[in-house]
Amino acid sequence: MANNFSIAIHGGAGTILRSTMTPELQAQYETGLRDALDAGYKILEAGGSSLDAVEAAVTMLEDFPLFNAGKGAVFNNVGGHEMDASIMYGNGLEAGAACGVSHVKNPVKLARAIMERSGHVILCGAGAEQFAKLQHLLTEDDAYFYTEHRYQQWQEALKEDRVQLDHSDKKFGTVGAVALDQHGNLAAATSTGGMTNKKFGRIGDSPVPGAGTYANNNTCAVSCTGHGELFLRCVVAYDISCLMEYKGLSLKEACDVVVYDKLVKIGGEGGLIAIDKSGNIEMPFNSEGMYRACRNSAGRNEVLIYKPPTP
Ligand code: ASP
Repeated sequence: MANNFSIAIHGGAGTILRSTMTPELQAQYETGLRDALDAGYKILEAGGSSLDAVEAAVTMLEDFPLFNAGKGAVFNNVGGHEMDASIMYGNGLEAGAACGVSHVKNPVKLARAIMERSGHVILCGAGAEQFAKLQHLLTEDDAYFYTEHRYQQWQEALKEDRVQLDHSDKKFGTVGAVALDQHGNLAAATSTGGMTNKKFGRIGDSPVPGAGTYANNNTCAVSCTGHGELFLRCVVAYDISCLMEYKGLSLKEACDVVVYDKLVKIGGEGGLIAIDKSGNIEMPFNSEGMYRACRNSAGRNEVLIYKPPTP
């Protein structure tokens, strides 16, 4: 029998309430999550690599206009889009990331190209865009990244001169995927447009290996979403791996310590998805909701948005 395999994805965490969601919009979000989950799952089912699975899932989420990444990326202070993405492979701790890139259709593909072909881990801005062109990655003009709802959010944020995480108050946005393949390899990827109206080349946790994204075959794969500054300060993804490696905690115990205690203590709102080397899946968050989904070879198959009801 083939070894077990698992995948989990997210589309951002924050103040996501049933009361402010229409059934039509909810159905669109669920379809976006389901399609991305299934794209990754099919690769794992066919014996493909976790790296290909997380790249495929995140690419679909980047192409889906409602999530804050790729096509749906938020506007920065000067009306542009500066996107961040990273990918990590747990087999040899390889990592690649792109920061503050514009016009690249799928920043996660750029992150993977940087990991595999640049000889570096992180490239930023114009240099990263130049590398994307050399790698023949697809680019798009500004019109592709224009979405009416993001434009309106930016206009509101501009009026009040505030920097905002995704569209409503405390509503975060980022996409990510983690996977374990049949060969025992873990991988993680994260992609984001960052914060609406962001200035001065602001970079969050998403493209920083160890903070927003981490994968290590000895422990787990993690992709985060939430208030990037706080997630950076907590080195969230690596901390979960360390708690498992050095303290012998289970994935659930490690996630609980970081998401419900360490982050909360410094006001770090958000969540994460994580899979350990045995295929266990955790999707904890300390915000109102998190767009999330997971599927494994043992039959678990979920697409969720809100908090589970309290018993
Ligand atoms: N962590 C992302 C950032 O700070 C935002 C998010 O996950 O919503 O850029």
